[in-house]
Amino acid sequence: MNNKGGCHWLWTLSGSHGQQDQVFRINVRNGDEVSKLTQLVNSDNFKLNVWKSPSAFGRPVDVLVPSVSLLPVKSFLKSQGLEYSVTIKDLQALLDNEDEEMQHNEGQERSGNNFNYGAYHSLEAIYHEMDSIATDFPDLASRVKIGETFEKRPMYVLKFSTGGGKQRPAIWLNAGIHSREWISQATAIWTARKIVSDYQKDPAITSILEKVDIFLLPVANPDGYVYTQTQNRLWRKTRSLNPGSRCVGTDPNRNWNSSFAGEGASDNPCSEVYHGPHANSEVEVKSVVDFIQKHGHFKCFIDLHSYSQLLMYPYGYTVKKALDAEELDDVARQAAEALASLSGTKYQVGPTCTTVYPASGSSIDWAYDNGIKYAFTFELRDTGHYGFLLPASQIIPTAEETWLGLKTIMEHVRDNL
Ligand SMILES: [Zn+2]
Repeated sequence: MNNKGGCHWLWTLSGSHGQQDQVFRINVRNGDEVSKLTQLVNSDNFKLNVWKSPSAFGRPVDVLVPSVSLLPVKSFLKSQGLEYSVTIKDLQALLDNEDEEMQHNEGQERSGNNFNYGAYHSLEAIYHEMDSIATDFPDLASRVKIGETFEKRPMYVLKFSTGGGKQRPAIWLNAGIHSREWISQATAIWTARKIVSDYQKDPAITSILEKVDIFLLPVANPDGYVYTQTQNRLWRKTRSLNPGSRCVGTDPNRNWNSSFAGEGASDNPCSEVYHGPHANSEVEVKSVVDFIQKHGHFKCFIDLHSYSQLLMYPYGYTVKKALDAEELDDVARQAAEALASLSGTKYQVGPTCTTVYPASGSSIDWAYDNGIKYAFTFELRDTGHYGFLLPASQIIPTAEETWLGLKTIMEHVRDNL
């Protein structure tokens, strides 16, 4: 059981009558089935939590079905002729397991005073580790506060620089904008330690840092992240209040000023893809935008998400090709190849809009339209077997392979300043 006070409740009737919350994967073969599924996931009656949204492009849809809705959802799918399989049979068991592992690890870290990169961590522990990295490598890394969240938590980035204060071109690494995608925050903090420990050992990262600075934001949505660890493990959005609505939060990856409120975003505050009242309404987004604009020399913006194993580039808000689509596609393919070379993890590559679904107001579209040419989104492991609940045993393998992809992109940036 959880002893953090909040606990990972999902739905109040979970587990009644021996029934469990489950994750369904539903096949989508044509436009008609897309609209039936859109109707299903938008219906308030079933209280579904969408893990992978319907899109027009034949990707299966993953939805969390609370135990109370199992029967009605199954009969809806049957009546509509929709094929599905159960990808997670007992969600609560996965949650309990993850929770137990985290607490066990916290206990061990307290006694050993060592950050375990193969475990998931609290915000506090991640911030503390950022501090330790800056303390251990004072000539290379520093912790910079870029703002405060809606709930007044600090937002920290690690700056890696060998420039001695000189203004240099820079790379932005972003993670955890969707709070439930825990592998992204875990990969980011691992990457921070990797950068400082490989500098002057690995010629690639050494030569990158001779020309560019790297800024890494491992927890882009701190309020949401804390909420996933105290109240609801599957929380995605920010925690800002929406006047006039009982629903909390905005999707911070629909809140950027890039075709704001266009396709693939919702004006309903209860939606998981609610775009917010206006562009940059979320202070977490605005803090990053202000920092990047004030700096003025960013050349690359990489956003880490999960899950699906995709490497994407602009655009999300239009099917129109980006001017640099060919070069971006080329770099992404090389990065995906490097990533796969470690343990064979396959990534699909393409522009967001046609690879997953239309999404307006996203971070990398904003970056690209504001002159940051090398803009990429990673959707990390896995492809749905665990979804957002990727076991901690996969953190280091994921981070290690992702590092090869990141380095490929950063080397390309270094050579094309
Ligand atoms: Zn995401």
